[in-house]
Amino acid sequence: MRLSVYFLPTLKETPSEASIVSHRLMLRSGMIRQSSAGIYSWLPLGLRVLKKIERIVREEQDRAGAQEVLMPTIQPADLWRESGRYDAYGPEMLRIKDRHDRDMLYGPTNEELITEILRGSVKSYKDLPKNLYHIQWKFRDEVRPRFGIMRGREFLMKDAYSFDLDYEGAKRSYNKMFVAYLRTFERMGLKAIPMKADSGPIGGDLSHEFVILADTGESEVACHKDFLDNDWLKDVDIDGGLQPTVDAFTEKYAATDGERDAAKEKELGGDLVTARGIEVGHIFYFGTKYSEAMNCRVMGPDGGEAALEMGSYGIGVSRLVGAVIEAFHDDDGIIWPESVAPFKVGLINLKVGDAECDKSCENIYAMLQDHGVEVLYDDREERAGAKFADMDLIGLPWQLVVGPRGLKQGVVEVKFSDHKANTRAKEELPLEAALKRIMV
Ligand code: ATP
Ligand code: MG
Repeated sequence: MRLSVYFLPTLKETPSEASIVSHRLMLRSGMIRQSSAGIYSWLPLGLRVLKKIERIVREEQDRAGAQEVLMPTIQPADLWRESGRYDAYGPEMLRIKDRHDRDMLYGPTNEELITEILRGSVKSYKDLPKNLYHIQWKFRDEVRPRFGIMRGREFLMKDAYSFDLDYEGAKRSYNKMFVAYLRTFERMGLKAIPMKADSGPIGGDLSHEFVILADTGESEVACHKDFLDNDWLKDVDIDGGLQPTVDAFTEKYAATDGERDAAKEKELGGDLVTARGIEVGHIFYFGTKYSEAMNCRVMGPDGGEAALEMGSYGIGVSRLVGAVIEAFHDDDGIIWPESVAPFKVGLINLKVGDAECDKSCENIYAMLQDHGVEVLYDDREERAGAKFADMDLIGLPWQLVVGPRGLKQGVVEVKFSDHKANTRAKEELPLEAALKRIMV
């Protein structure tokens, strides 16, 4: 992509309405634009990141055996009357009437709709287990939408729903999602800690929130300090056995607000860390709550009818864009992990109009693209300083800086940012060596 034609409305000033760094950086780098409170348009640069995150989420759901569907955003109120949640949900639900005066709503979540789909199509225990998910916009009329897309009113969520015959099956489905979540967040470079969360009226221990630690997080959390260790994942084989992997994580103390255990925390002493966190995912077993209320049953092996055992599994896809930025940035801008970066390489032409620089940049641009590398080419007639500032703000993993002085000596400048180390390093290299580095 050529920056001269790209729609990238960056801001020089720090927007006053943004109180946390991810919101500021997303506005400044032209990723999003607010439409109304808590509702945003995704501009080209932001949408690229959203799509990359969505893709990782999708790949890991598919790998875990979940199947993608797409349910509508608008749902009939009657389904929610069946489950009893229509009145219970409160003002967070956006209620709409259609032209026939029928009550509709913009879905804040999809348990009712998915249960309705299953009850019409699954008759026997032989049709189980099933796990269906979709990645769809949700609407919750939050009291205090804030922090940009982190707590929006309209937001993109991956929500999966599992259906099993019995508790053992449901637990297996739960564990599969648990491990899929570990893999998903790890691929984004994030250290998401599975924390015991409020499991609601049915109790049990099958409810975990996946939380990224950040000072600007809205949740109050506590965990064993081992979770902060950079090598904490290395000790556990997340591709290994399902239950042992889940056990390895759950035997260490980690809990969100409603589930914190004062006695256990006292016991942990110096090994305890209390912090603030961003909830990026939530997995939840809730038994037959919806299947009983909505009469979703199958024929069991003994010939009797059984209500399905269900779980639901959410990931805040749009919130993750902000969470990644909260985790990886410095004073100059974002430092994207390569897996979610909007482009891999930023190519800077320091002297547009100079025949040598133009030719060299065009060659590099073409060659990288031929090799399937996503490049943002700054071919604008702008001051070098402005180009550097914009590229640092956008925070691509690699920058290639091509100028007349370097070309005379046969070198270009390579800038490599490392989200884990939170550093940006640069080095002059012969062009070929630079390209080799970037293309491995
Ligand atoms: P929260 O406690 O942050 O309000 P929740 O527990 O209501 O979230 P869930 O119903 O578990 O959220 O939704 C699944 C995921 O969707 C959450 O883990 C979070 O990442 C994301 N999410 C929830 N509400 C919002 C929102 N208003 N804006 C952006 N993402 C959200
Ligand atoms: Mg939650």
